[in-house]
Amino acid sequence: MKRITWLTVASILFSGSLFASNKLKVVTTTQDLASITREVGGDRVDVTSIARGYQDPHFVEPKPSFLLLLKNADLLEVVGLELEIGWLPPLLDQCRNNNIRPGTPGYLDLSQGVEILDRPSVVNRSMGDVHPLGNPHYWLDPANAVRIAIQVRNRLAQLQPADTAYFDQHLQNFKVRINDANKRWMAQMAPYRGAKIVDYHPSLPNFAKHFGLDIVGTIEPKPGIPPSPSHTLEIINLIKTQHVKAILMEPYFDRKTPDFVAAQTGAKVVVIYPSVGGKPGLDDYFKLFDYDIDVLTKALR
Ligand SMILES: [Zn+2]
Repeated sequence: MKRITWLTVASILFSGSLFASNKLKVVTTTQDLASITREVGGDRVDVTSIARGYQDPHFVEPKPSFLLLLKNADLLEVVGLELEIGWLPPLLDQCRNNNIRPGTPGYLDLSQGVEILDRPSVVNRSMGDVHPLGNPHYWLDPANAVRIAIQVRNRLAQLQPADTAYFDQHLQNFKVRINDANKRWMAQMAPYRGAKIVDYHPSLPNFAKHFGLDIVGTIEPKPGIPPSPSHTLEIINLIKTQHVKAILMEPYFDRKTPDFVAAQTGAKVVVIYPSVGGKPGLDDYFKLFDYDIDVLTKALR
């Protein structure tokens, strides 16, 4: 009787520890990275995002619960290029987890292996520019999504080598699905190649480059700087002279200036979602693009 009890206890402990070691705890700063990591990691990873997709990723209010998440993480994935500089460093300092510090295998900066646009020739942090190292919204290009997935695969395989074949298979499946989806998206966007648009914050250069849209102006005078009267007048003139049909804005900005510009010009204000989780239903990377492309093609028609 006694022996059976011990055997039972031992087997529970053993299976429990096996189960725990099977799932890598991954924390991402954004839901976009979380979505792509779930594609690659499947059921071998437990993925949680700190920022929600409806928040401006440059400005996330730190919460105590984030410290607990980071404390227990095996891997932290960041967008990088200083996107998270306003809120992540203090959390990293306070979470007491040396395994996810920059420079360790538990820290992955995805900006290292993707195409970055708007890289400045000289880094200039003055004027409150929140894109001093280049545009950090690079995930809005399906080719970069694949580049992100490859980096995630490499790091997951490094941290959990026993599951390498599993991660490879999932990466392969993701590449096939994104390739199929991209063919559909490109076909939907094809009639609007060269269409001129204005954006609110420069979240869309990678998206625009991929689909051949022409961003002729931005409501913010500089990334992270609120609209000013003189710059708004310039944008109004630009929209009139260039016959811009749509002003694309992220859901977390004030509509006042875009609505004013629209009223002066006849251009349409279109809310575009730059992140997974931006609103209910945008649960993964594919649904995000399906939605944005649907809204955009209707506006540019
Ligand atoms: Zn930005």
